Amino acid sequence: MNLETPIKEAGIIFKKYASRLEKLGIKKISDFLYHVPFRYEDYSLVSKIGNVQSGEIVTIKGEVTEIKNEYTRRWKSLQKAKVADETGEIDIIWFNQPFVPKIIKKGDMVSLAGKVDWFKNKAILRSPQYEVLFSESEPIHTARLVPIYNETRGVSSKWLRRQINKIIKEQIQFMNEYIPDSIIKKTGLIGFKPAIEQIHFPKSLAEAEKARARLAFDELFFLQLAALFRRSQWKNNFVRNPFSISKYMKSIEDFLENLPFELTNSQKKSVKEIFTDLASKKPMNRLLEGDVGSGKTVVASIAMFLAYLNGFQSVFMAPTEILANQHFDTISQLLKPFGVTVALKTGSIKHKVSSIKQKNNIHNTEYSIQNTDILIGTHAVLSDKINYQNLGLVVIDEQQRFGVEQRGVIRQKGKNPHLLTMTATPIPRTVALTLYGDLDLSFLDEVPVGRKTVKTWLVPKEKREDAYKWITKQIMENCGQVFIICPFIEESETMITVKAAKKEFERLKKEVFSKQKLELLHGKLKSKEKNIILENFRSGKNDILVATPIVEVGIDIPNATIMLIEASERFGLSQLHQLRGRVGRSDKQSYCLLFTESQNPKTIERLKSLESIFVGAQLAELDLRLRGPGEIYGTAQHGVPMLKVASFSDFSLIEKVKKEAEKIFPNLSKYPKLLEKLKSISAQRVSPD
Ligand code: ADP
Ligand code: MG
Repeated sequence: MNLETPIKEAGIIFKKYASRLEKLGIKKISDFLYHVPFRYEDYSLVSKIGNVQSGEIVTIKGEVTEIKNEYTRRWKSLQKAKVADETGEIDIIWFNQPFVPKIIKKGDMVSLAGKVDWFKNKAILRSPQYEVLFSESEPIHTARLVPIYNETRGVSSKWLRRQINKIIKEQIQFMNEYIPDSIIKKTGLIGFKPAIEQIHFPKSLAEAEKARARLAFDELFFLQLAALFRRSQWKNNFVRNPFSISKYMKSIEDFLENLPFELTNSQKKSVKEIFTDLASKKPMNRLLEGDVGSGKTVVASIAMFLAYLNGFQSVFMAPTEILANQHFDTISQLLKPFGVTVALKTGSIKHKVSSIKQKNNIHNTEYSIQNTDILIGTHAVLSDKINYQNLGLVVIDEQQRFGVEQRGVIRQKGKNPHLLTMTATPIPRTVALTLYGDLDLSFLDEVPVGRKTVKTWLVPKEKREDAYKWITKQIMENCGQVFIICPFIEESETMITVKAAKKEFERLKKEVFSKQKLELLHGKLKSKEKNIILENFRSGKNDILVATPIVEVGIDIPNATIMLIEASERFGLSQLHQLRGRVGRSDKQSYCLLFTESQNPKTIERLKSLESIFVGAQLAELDLRLRGPGEIYGTAQHGVPMLKVASFSDFSLIEKVKKEAEKIFPNLSKYPKLLEKLKSISAQRVSPD
């Protein structure tokens, strides 16, 4: 057994626990060491039995003079013991732990930790932590700062502590320092070995803090190096034919003139940045970050138009079929007049080609897909079956929904196509640079002129009926259209959530909006049904769309002006902002009503911030402070790594790490141990996506 041994192969005990450990992210032996405690129980006060005080949290050591199981009623049992040292004797009691007398025997030397109680004029320890002391062993569950870990069923902190202690004892000799001396010295970090020992078994909280600082540095440092590495790999490729811009300037200008609006300044700036990339010999790898409604689609369309003019195909990938459909419509509308053929490919719809070129004999659909100028779709667009003739540009919309590793596939697809990724996840710049240090960044930091902010109100329980009346009035008087979001936050909708949405839908239809036209949209519908429902809504056939949060991503229906969100306390501020972004997409005044039954002042305050803050990035920062990074950046499946020790809100550490990483990159060969570690980490990350 060594640090790299997979849990399943690490002996019979571990094998039995493998699936449970996997839930905690422990897949191989070394993962135990990175399963760091989230707090410590302080049992470091060791007292003689004669000196214990009521209410004190102490550790006592002594000899067991008596221990027994006592059965009370059926299924209930007590374990009673007495432990003595030279100063006195103390009573111990456990509840329903009949195995304790099997572990602790009369005559054993034990160490017990817990809170002292006074019972009938005598000190007593109830359900203390316990361990039998052997001559040479140091206590790990008592008499010290004791690490408390994230647990899962059948895997307790005590069990983890024992395994981790054993692994450290056996393996520490094989662990090597890999951070270059110069960095260690300059940053004042402690060594790797002591960091691992001290994060689990610190002598003091200060020691634990130092260990945490070191491991947090490592974690971000490798993220940063990996990003720099990906960047250099990507940039090592060459584009066959850099795009020409000057040659096609006239056509681009025509296109811009034809738009029903003028580009915002930040759209113009982003287009310029993208064009510069496209004209260079290195493939573009750019992230376009812009708040909901900031107009990313048109920017991507201009880039795809330039690709077309240069004789290249583009692929546009969206995370959902609904969105792919919407983009197909928008982009066809924008580009068809200029002779561009646009096709759609999703999992369920094989193909849909909008062509004004009327190529002769488009019988073979694969042929038409392969030869279309722009192919829009879900991840199906990257399937092996399509061999692009001349792929020059790949656009990924809502990139946070896809994995980072998609890029590897793309590189193999075409001959080094340019890549533009887009996201509305308002990641603070520092964080973006760490996570996506391999990308160049463009920001759309203004929304189109004429947009009004979405008036937002938190609606308490007692105002619910009034709110419904107000909405009815808006529909009747102003022809407003309304989204009602049912409160299901699961990423993948289950049948239970769909059922609940249906129930709410029926209730609203019967009891609240009996005169209005309602439809229900949820994730379990067939793609075709979803499209019909959305089309009906878009064309104004329906007044109210009751939906699960699947509408969160990207849907653009400018005539909808009211967004009602049920149980809003269940969402993060960023998510709510995304949902709110579904309205306010025209020059009409729009409204967002946040329903909550919560009475918790903190929750209310958190939600109320949406009434006054309308900038996604500010809300994201607030989320970060109030709920922690996991909530915003999603899970590892979404291409954002889960941090075990560090935090994305630690901006100063991120800056420090970035500086150090950039200083030594790319001359890593000087540091073979570092290089080896980087490779082993990257290898893990590339695997499943
Ligand atoms: P997002 O950035 O959220 O993807 P979209 O690209 O869907 O936003 O654009 C939102 C809406 O704004 C669309 O209806 C689009 O036509 C419109 N739009 C985009 N740019 C402008 C602009 N410069 N002026 C006015 N409207 C714009
Ligand atoms: Mg969009």
